[in-house]
Amino acid sequence: MVAESLAEWWHESARDLPWRFGRATPWGVLVSEVMSQQTQMSRVVPYWQAWMERWPDAAALADASKADVITAWGRLGYPRRALRLQECARMVADDYHDDLPRTYDELVALPGIGDYTASAVMSFAYGERIAVIDTNIRRVLSRVFLGAESRGGAASPAERALANRVLPEDSAARCRGFDRPSVVWNQSVMELGAVICTAKSPLCEQCPVAAECMFLANGRPGLGERRTRPHQRFRGTDRQVRGLVLNALRGLPDGRIAIDRKDIEALWSDHIQLDKCIASLDDDGLIEMLPDGSVRLPC
Ligand code: SF4
Repeated sequence: MVAESLAEWWHESARDLPWRFGRATPWGVLVSEVMSQQTQMSRVVPYWQAWMERWPDAAALADASKADVITAWGRLGYPRRALRLQECARMVADDYHDDLPRTYDELVALPGIGDYTASAVMSFAYGERIAVIDTNIRRVLSRVFLGAESRGGAASPAERALANRVLPEDSAARCRGFDRPSVVWNQSVMELGAVICTAKSPLCEQCPVAAECMFLANGRPGLGERRTRPHQRFRGTDRQVRGLVLNALRGLPDGRIAIDRKDIEALWSDHIQLDKCIASLDDDGLIEMLPDGSVRLPC
């Protein structure tokens, strides 16, 4: 009953994201999933569109310069993901003839691809029946079927067992690909968690499964007490400083590839923190430090 209610809601209300409904290649689906980790899907759309236009497949991305890849990642955040995605592209291009592999084991062995992304690609790109488990899905399943908030940290064996138990069967369905019940289930549960059953302020009065939700029936015990993801301060953090340096490099006019020491120091007044961040960006392969103290994006 929950599956039917959610499927109906999904077909009426799903956001029309460009990698959904079978319109993207498996590689495009993987790129969307990597970009959406730690970044809201609605923010990802213009980056994904520009990225796929420029590098439509793994081979194209494999051949790009690191500087172009880091620049195109823009303000998606956590830019190491961009370099890991390029490493992944190189492996797909070299070892799989530019065809994204079709098994979970092969996907999860690619650089930067974990359980969630491998499962999401198996379900959303290949239509395979597999439980996809992310923060949103854990929160929704725990609320609807257990009547309680999910705990933070890694998914527990009990949460995985629940996700597998409630995953609809596909065998009796005539549907194919992205219309299969298990695929619609994964996408609709995740979508519900993103737009209705949010962590702090679930919109239960608009929820398609309100009548079947144990959490609502129980009076929403402990709502907001346990955040599934700890709040992360940004101002003054190394993340902010690293972002400032990368944005300055991305914004250089044509013909200029490096920023000299004086201009770098103008970006942040705490030069100890600044130097620490520059060193960490260099360690991560996101910038190169030159002997004269200037920095540039890697070639
Ligand atoms: S009724 Fe409320 S708590 Fe239950 S799934 Fe819907 S939005 Fe979430």
